[in-house]
Amino acid sequence: MSEIEIISIGSELLTGKTINTNAAFISQKLRQIGLSVVRHTALSDNAEILKKELQIALHRSEIVITTGGLGPTFDDISKRVANSLFQSSLILNDKYYRDLQKRYKKFSRDLKEQATVPSNAVVFVNPIGTAPGLALPKEHPRLLMLPGVPKEMEALLEQSILPFLKKRFRKEEKCFEKELHFCLLWENDLHPILKKFRSPKIDIGIYPEYATVTVVLRTQAKIKQIAEAAFAPLVRKLKAHFQAYLYESKNGRLEEAICEQLTKAKQTLVLAESCTGGAISARLTSISGSSKYFFGSFVTYSDRLKHSILHVSKETLKKHGAVSKETVQEMLEGAFHLTGADYGIAVSGIAGPTGGTVKKPVGTIWFAIGKRKEKPDIGLIPLMGIQKRDVIIQYASTYALGLLFSRWINTIY
Ligand code: ATP
Ligand code: MG
Repeated sequence: MSEIEIISIGSELLTGKTINTNAAFISQKLRQIGLSVVRHTALSDNAEILKKELQIALHRSEIVITTGGLGPTFDDISKRVANSLFQSSLILNDKYYRDLQKRYKKFSRDLKEQATVPSNAVVFVNPIGTAPGLALPKEHPRLLMLPGVPKEMEALLEQSILPFLKKRFRKEEKCFEKELHFCLLWENDLHPILKKFRSPKIDIGIYPEYATVTVVLRTQAKIKQIAEAAFAPLVRKLKAHFQAYLYESKNGRLEEAICEQLTKAKQTLVLAESCTGGAISARLTSISGSSKYFFGSFVTYSDRLKHSILHVSKETLKKHGAVSKETVQEMLEGAFHLTGADYGIAVSGIAGPTGGTVKKPVGTIWFAIGKRKEKPDIGLIPLMGIQKRDVIIQYASTYALGLLFSRWINTIY
């Protein structure tokens, strides 16, 4: 197994000042070339700790990639630590120095320091900064060091490190993945089936989000077809049980699947939103091409607009209130009547934290979803105790889209 780990160096990562995006970026890029990362570590700018952790990491993993601490300031310790770890000596790399001088004629400060590298290191040119990437030891590199500035790290990774790793791990088997996205399901719904398919050959990850869950299957195989064959029994079983909830999307976004289904079927959609305040519309329109099927949303937050635009009757609003099944039904009817769209969603509820009553507590959200001229589904979105306003809005939006997808449009095309 090609064990690869990442050590991110910088005290700012541990205080929470900087989010460790470098580790995520490197992992994603390595995954794309079939290599998996087994460990992320973040460390402060402390030479002693770094040395100890590098020793441990190099002992247990074949490749260790570090980011940060390669600059010329006193808190940049990575180069010196690596130098001492590999009993190398710091020497001025003339070629790199001349190259830096050419590129940074006016800013000669620190260039000598930046071009001073461990004698036992391969030097990778940083195309947009001064700190070079380093790989030690020269004859068979295992420690790959990149600068901390994300843009510089990314450029060096793409230009030098990925080609190096591809060559190094030109191996028979690669890591293949399959992602399955489900709306309206919880981990617990999938767990009993996934449990039965656990095996040393297939690694199964379950990643829940609000009202959706993604299952990722991973395996090592020579070619894609072999990996697909290994996944097939589990995929078949999941499809048999949960076909209605399963959606296809490159990045796991339900709105992408909805866009694809409705566009292919040449059908249209309209929304009538109250408590979500346009959040569902924003989700749908974040996908390029949504104008092909999406008419738009009536964001009728007040009773006044519910009545004057969507023609929800004054009597309904008075007798049942804006948060009621009668109101969402009339909102949906109004939106259909005004636009002639094929499908529609209406949502009205109490997103909190204020506005709740004993009869209608925070989180009471009614939906009406359906097809024009057909009886819609009307019900309450089960919020399972969620109390925060932004989470309620996000959850309710996803849930409503999930209902539209699974009950109405999953199989229209
Ligand atoms: P420089 O030559 O700029 O000093 P360096 O290799 O020494 O490069 P650092 O000083 O460790 O890099 O970090 C430079 C900046 O890059 C930090 O201020 C921080 O904003 C950002 N950075 C460092 N590490 C990470 C990381 N793991 N994820 C995201 N950003 C990071
Ligand atoms: Mg620095």
